[in-house]
Amino acid sequence: MEWETVIGLEIHAQLATRSKIFSGASTAYGADPNTQACNVDLGLPGVLPVLNREAVVMAGRFGLAIGAGVERRSVFARKNYFYPDLPKGYQISQYELPIVGRGQVTIDLEDDGTKVIGVTRAHLEEDAGKSLHEDFHGMSGIDLNRAGTPLLEIVSEPDMRSPKEAIAYMRKIHTLVRYLGICDGNMQEGSFRCDANVSVRPKGQAAFGTRAELKNLNSFRFVERALRFEVERQIDLLEGGGKVLQETRLYDPERGETRPMRGKEEANDYRYFPDPDLLPVEIDDDFVAALETSLPELPDAKRQRFMEQYGLGRYDASLLTANRATADYYEALLAAGGGDPKLAANWVAGDLSGALNRDGIDIAQSPVDAGLLGGLLARIADNTISGKIAKQVFEAMWRGEGDADAIIEARGLKQITDSGAIEKIVDDVIANNPGQVEQFRAGKEKLMGFFVGQVMKATQGKANPKQVNELLRKRLS
Ligand code: ADP
Ligand code: MG
Repeated sequence: MEWETVIGLEIHAQLATRSKIFSGASTAYGADPNTQACNVDLGLPGVLPVLNREAVVMAGRFGLAIGAGVERRSVFARKNYFYPDLPKGYQISQYELPIVGRGQVTIDLEDDGTKVIGVTRAHLEEDAGKSLHEDFHGMSGIDLNRAGTPLLEIVSEPDMRSPKEAIAYMRKIHTLVRYLGICDGNMQEGSFRCDANVSVRPKGQAAFGTRAELKNLNSFRFVERALRFEVERQIDLLEGGGKVLQETRLYDPERGETRPMRGKEEANDYRYFPDPDLLPVEIDDDFVAALETSLPELPDAKRQRFMEQYGLGRYDASLLTANRATADYYEALLAAGGGDPKLAANWVAGDLSGALNRDGIDIAQSPVDAGLLGGLLARIADNTISGKIAKQVFEAMWRGEGDADAIIEARGLKQITDSGAIEKIVDDVIANNPGQVEQFRAGKEKLMGFFVGQVMKATQGKANPKQVNELLRKRLS
């Protein structure tokens, strides 16, 4: 029997506000436990939540970016459950009336195709605190710094048909929220995490199978591994005559498997009701109009523009627009004399990205900024140096040895374009290698590489490769 996988994701994006969603406490990461939890976050009696306007702005930006718009009226609701990291005994969330309704995003498939994934809704809610198990023997500590941190929960339709598609969707949302400047996307710090719902069904069957929910996956790799494992598990179970239980499961990265955490609760277990402490959020046209004008160019549009304006292929354009900082760098590079857009794209995706990855540096902090790299590419374009020598110069710039011209000068790397000088070396090489010359003339064309190599060696790589080739051909024929 052939099986089809069905996946829907609930992504939690932590909104990049400076203070919490219902209090003035700081959202900065990494503070000592319980130093950033005020009376509201602690759920003390007699205090009232006040909605952070910026969280509404950020959710609205997201709604516009996925074509959903912003709902004119949304309502906060209490989602009731008991857990030690939830001091009020309920989480403030949105239920029947979320701030963002139905929208969509387009993902890229591996075979170069695209697919539209539906977004069911996105709603605002507060995060819970965190239990600390490591430092306390036989007890747990509770850190409420995270309590009240604003989250946007983005719920997808069950539209994905493989773990790969799920990852592509998750990456797309990740790119989008960072473009919008509404989430820093830092997965290690938990700013971007997801619950994955997955089921399988016989291919061709219309009804969905029973799903399992995989909780709190905080890396792309874990999401993919957890989904793969879970799909296999469900298929094995069904083929062995068993049944999939609707339950919440945890992924254990060390063992690479999922295991049951609890039976899946139903919405009515939470006894949702509108929070009487908060007014409905009402949004007018002016508010939406202001949001619309403040939207940046979005990833899909930027990629399309890069393809049209710079003649790049889809692959290069995707790489360069995967985040705003890279796209900005690329355009600054072109403006700084980076010359041919394709050459500039190769340098950003190649040597620059390689060096940034190697040293763990963000492109915005690159020691070789767009101006410096532009200066280097200009020297390739005007034939002062070859592409190969340019790699040396780049490494020297990376180490802070100055700009391209200074390094070329100091190290005497200037390309030899004087054809008289090259001719002389070519003649020497031909004179010194009579055997190879004979073979070449007898038809062993491959030896061209050998001759070029000899000339380059004699000039420490500084001869203009094009001229060397031309002269060698002339002399050898
Ligand atoms: P809950 O209220 O239990 O969280 P929802 O109906 O809100 O359930 O769905 C949560 C997520 O599960 C959504 O992303 C949805 O697309 C996905 N989902 C729903 N049914 C299935 C299914 N049978 N298989 C896979 N994913 C599903
Ligand atoms: Mg849910």
